[in-house]
Amino acid sequence: MSRTLPSPTRHGRAAIIGASIAGLLAARILAEHFDEVVLLERDPLPEGAAPRKGTPQAVQPHGLLARGRQVLDGLFPGFSEALVAQGALYGDAGGEVAVDANGQRLARATLGVDALACSRLAIEAEIRRRVRALPNVRVLDGVDVIAPVHEDARVTGLRWQPRDADSLAGAEPQTLAAALVVDCSGRASRSPAWLREWGYAAPAEERVQVGIAYTSAYFRRAPGQPPLACVIGAATPALPRPSILIAQEPDAQGRERWVAGVGGYTGDHVATTREAMAERARQINHPEIAALAEHAEMIGEPMRYGFPHSQRRRYERLRRFPAGYLVMGDALASFNPIYGQGMTVAACEALALRDALARGPDSLQGLARRFFRAAARVVDAPWQIAVGGDLALPVVPGPRPFPVKLVNAYLGRLQRAAVHDPVLAGAFLKVVQMLAPPKSLMAPRLMWRVWRGRHRPGAAVAQTAAA
Ligand SMILES: Cc1cc2nc3c(=O)[nH]c(=O)nc-3n(C[C@H](O)[C@H](O)[C@H](O)COP(=O)(O)OP(=O)(O)OC[C@H]3O[C@@H](n4cnc5c(N)ncnc54)[C@H](O)[C@@H]3O)c2cc1C
Repeated sequence: MSRTLPSPTRHGRAAIIGASIAGLLAARILAEHFDEVVLLERDPLPEGAAPRKGTPQAVQPHGLLARGRQVLDGLFPGFSEALVAQGALYGDAGGEVAVDANGQRLARATLGVDALACSRLAIEAEIRRRVRALPNVRVLDGVDVIAPVHEDARVTGLRWQPRDADSLAGAEPQTLAAALVVDCSGRASRSPAWLREWGYAAPAEERVQVGIAYTSAYFRRAPGQPPLACVIGAATPALPRPSILIAQEPDAQGRERWVAGVGGYTGDHVATTREAMAERARQINHPEIAALAEHAEMIGEPMRYGFPHSQRRRYERLRRFPAGYLVMGDALASFNPIYGQGMTVAACEALALRDALARGPDSLQGLARRFFRAAARVVDAPWQIAVGGDLALPVVPGPRPFPVKLVNAYLGRLQRAAVHDPVLAGAFLKVVQMLAPPKSLMAPRLMWRVWRGRHRPGAAVAQTAAA
């Protein structure tokens, strides 16, 4: 018997604050449910892959996790192919990716899931191109959102003004009515302050102070010769000095590139010179970055980026929240960038938004509650990975309850055993790539392998380094 599914209820207009990764992905989903979606972005948006002021992080190394690639390919058919056509590398998320821990490389493992290596600028530009092509999406760029409009326990639109390049005062504020406003303005989001102004409680905020900074630079890549697409240097208690190397699509001059970054916590920072990068890479035994920093042609200058703390705002715990309003992306949770999770989390939150809209006779009724609960489930695992990983490092301040200590001790052993065991290395990488939950590493068959692997000579060396 065939059954006709009810067509989704359509609403009038949705407005989104910020047209970066989270804002664009929210627009992609809301376009399925609203007659019109308006994206309001402070920066004038470039046509292609170019840096802009509002997202200074975008020129820093950005890894798109394999789970994020899967979601983006689902939302935008042919997404990976479009980036590969621009020169992105595409290959197995295990086979093409090496992970170093304590100066030792984990065994190589094939995951059977592909990942993309390319620049964040190219990823954002491709998403933007697809979203702009949606017939019911309108982009207002070069405009400042002043604040949402709140009346009678609901948000009914927002006030905005064009940013006038010639005058700091800008032009006259205007009001845009909307049935739903989504705050995707990034980690400096003003939603907590706006909620207080409207008479609500602000969400509880969890913070982990990491004081991380990394120095990064682009280097020329020998054409068609990447033995690997990405090398991740994990921060460990013995060596809390993360590093990253990711192949990039060619730049506007057709130069194939690497982007490399070397970082440190709480003041252990690398000077912004290639010599300092090379020295740090040698200290942490990262041969690829050391060789590039010593010999390769550098494109542009080394850059420094500081990131004070990971933060998570617990909107799902608020008892009162205005109707017609949501918060997504970094505005909800912003993670220590060494784990490369932010874009993938924004993509998974977009799927959570789609589910939350699909439920209920009137999908806007109770939407905030449904969405924030689902988004909290999305954030839980990457937050556990990032915060758990950071609290394993003695340099990071914060309480460490016994279960956190226990899990971190186990993960340290697992990493050491994974130097020789491709099964353990593959299981670890699946969690890193957000393809499996952290608890999958506690499976008895893996625990047995960790226990068995503790007698290997390499493991003993690494344990000595960790002591
Ligand atoms: C150094 C660094 C490295 C990172 N590396 C990775 C990585 O490897 N992999 C990964 O997945 N993620 C990484 N991230 C995280 C990633 O950049 C973010 O998670 C991702 O950009 C999603 O952020 P967002 O869209 O929520 O906010 P943002 O990217 O911060 O964008 C917010 C947007 O809102 C606009 N805006 C703000 N206020 C207003 C206003 N009042 N009116 C109009 N517009 C406004 C801004 O101009 C901006 O465009 C990294 C972050 C940092 C800092």
